[in-house]
Amino acid sequence: YLVFDQVTKRFGGLTVVEAPFNLVVPRGQFVVFLGPSGCGKTTLMRMVGGLDEATTGTIRLEGSPVGPPDERRGMVFQSYSSFPWLTVLQNIAFGMRYRRDLSPKAKASRARHYLDLVGLSDFGDAYPSRISGGMRQRVAIARTLAAGSDVLLMDEPFGALDAQRREQLQIELRRIQSEEMKTVLFVTHDVEEAIFLADRIIVFSSRPARIIDDIDVTAELGSDRNLE
Ligand code: ATP
Repeated sequence: YLVFDQVTKRFGGLTVVEAPFNLVVPRGQFVVFLGPSGCGKTTLMRMVGGLDEATTGTIRLEGSPVGPPDERRGMVFQSYSSFPWLTVLQNIAFGMRYRRDLSPKAKASRARHYLDLVGLSDFGDAYPSRISGGMRQRVAIARTLAAGSDVLLMDEPFGALDAQRREQLQIELRRIQSEEMKTVLFVTHDVEEAIFLADRIIVFSSRPARIIDDIDVTAELGSDRNLE
């Protein structure tokens, strides 16, 4: 379980999360956060990822408080920056640096697999400065999927992609998530995307973030959703 237990967050005088915020996410659930701009969704995700600390309360993952970023949590944020001194393929492989269970050869072929998956087969040897922002976003997605973390934190990861690529990656993400029982927190402003991806949609108020609706999508729409 991923548990938000009585969490609040303030930045100086600005209260971003109050109430206090409670949420229990079972392992393997795909949760979409929907809510107005600036309400605190990114802040909640950053706290799960270990990039920000709760002002009060605790976030626990499988029973223990989350600490600094580690390999259990993979993040794709809007403003992800890849390492400029590594090639695209090396950036993807970097996501697997903690994986002792994979041989260098297995890592190389896994990196190649995710490179192909995000449609960058021809750009493995390119440096990030030579590719577009949307392509860098895809590198971030590939890196995070290749890392194989149990929890994926994705903040509008498909925002910069064209419709066809977005649809392809939505299908792929949904497949990987259900096959590998990943817990996903996913922020989007696109309601169709939310309905296609989510097992559960959390709807937020404007800042400070409070939950105003908690929708069990699987129960309401059944498991055979499609993009039509
Ligand atoms: P969007 O959908 O536009 O990405 P959001 O719901 O993700 O919005 P957050 O990015 O979490 O919202 O921001 C919530 C509020 O907290 C905003 O008003 C933002 O300006 C503020 N904020 C976020 N980080 C900091 C920080 N480090 N210092 C001060 N204020 C911050």
